[in-house]
Amino acid sequence: MSATLPLLNEPTSPPAAPLPGILDVPAEGLRAWLAERRQPPMRVNQIRRQILANRAESFEAMSDLPKDLRADLAASFSVFSTRVERHLFAQSDDTHKLVLRLADDRMIECVLIQDDGRATACVSTQVGCGMGCVFCASGLNGVVRNLTVGEIVEQLVRLRNLTDPTTTNPDRAPRLTHIVVMGMGEPLANLDRLLEALAIAGDKNGLCIGQRHVTISTVGLPAKIRQLAEAGKQYHLAVSLHAPNDALRTQIVPTNDKTGIPAILDAADDFYARTGRQVTYEYVVLGGLNDGPTHAKELARLLSGRKAHVNLIPWNDVDGLPYRRPVEGNLQGFVDTLRHSGVSVKVRKRKGTEIDAACGQLRRKVEQEAAAGREPAPAAATAPPDPVPAAAAP
Ligand code: SF4
Repeated sequence: MSATLPLLNEPTSPPAAPLPGILDVPAEGLRAWLAERRQPPMRVNQIRRQILANRAESFEAMSDLPKDLRADLAASFSVFSTRVERHLFAQSDDTHKLVLRLADDRMIECVLIQDDGRATACVSTQVGCGMGCVFCASGLNGVVRNLTVGEIVEQLVRLRNLTDPTTTNPDRAPRLTHIVVMGMGEPLANLDRLLEALAIAGDKNGLCIGQRHVTISTVGLPAKIRQLAEAGKQYHLAVSLHAPNDALRTQIVPTNDKTGIPAILDAADDFYARTGRQVTYEYVVLGGLNDGPTHAKELARLLSGRKAHVNLIPWNDVDGLPYRRPVEGNLQGFVDTLRHSGVSVKVRKRKGTEIDAACGQLRRKVEQEAAAGREPAPAAATAPPDPVPAAAAP
């Protein structure tokens, strides 16, 4: 009887499970782990400060920790649970876009936008999205899962690490200054974890980002808007309206059929009453669909008298999607109608247009390439510049 020989390249043992990301280890768990190694509890803050404030990207770089402890940490945890799967950089305006691969091989996107002395991180809160906005690739396959607190914080840290702490350019910030929660997913569907992540971002030993520099965007979940107001924070709320009446909005944001515009506006009014923070209404302007004079008048009627601001975001044509850019005259007419009704309005500049495409498209492309087992096509945009070196540990 012949023995069965192992095939060449047959794995002899299953691949090692990825180490847990340390930002997702609760403080008490980490304290217990440290106590087993006779390390004081204050090491928890030291480790976190190294990642959040000092830009350390490895345990080895944490030079204020004992060498043995650094080795033990590296054997048990990873500094980041995510991996940069793709990094695109728009040279025209220094916008960075990252596709991150999570420990379970799912992918998310996050973006760093730099202008006017600000560095703004746009982050995701879910894998996929259950809202199904018709112009958005993130929602095409529904929602897969909520991101963890650590996965949200990691996006901020990775983007912050792309800022240049030595910059003398007045247009560039040496650190992260603002956060917009407008990436993949509906942020209010993962509100508890988002609030935890933002608390870490706001900590003076962390990323030190003030509450008034944070904007949370939602398609409008009334109960969650009220929960956010009750959290007693000064975060800014942006409601993605995209249409001035329920029939049209349900076409563009299908989940609107369960809520309806009046309930969303009521909740947003309550948010303003409770926090004193003016609400922004985002309106993606889709040529020929929601940009007519009657739409502008309807929107003006809805919002005049409310403490509200409107951000108009002109759609940019995207291959494969049937929507088109609004003609300039329509856009200006829309702006004028709102202004004449006393509604504050601005047309939002688009950043990183050569790498932007539509929300979620890059991640989808990278996932499809990975599924097909192909090497990624060369990025249309330029390669990122040399990474900013991690700051020396204190
Ligand atoms: S636009 Fe935002 S809310 Fe709508 S499907 Fe995309 S990620 Fe979800």
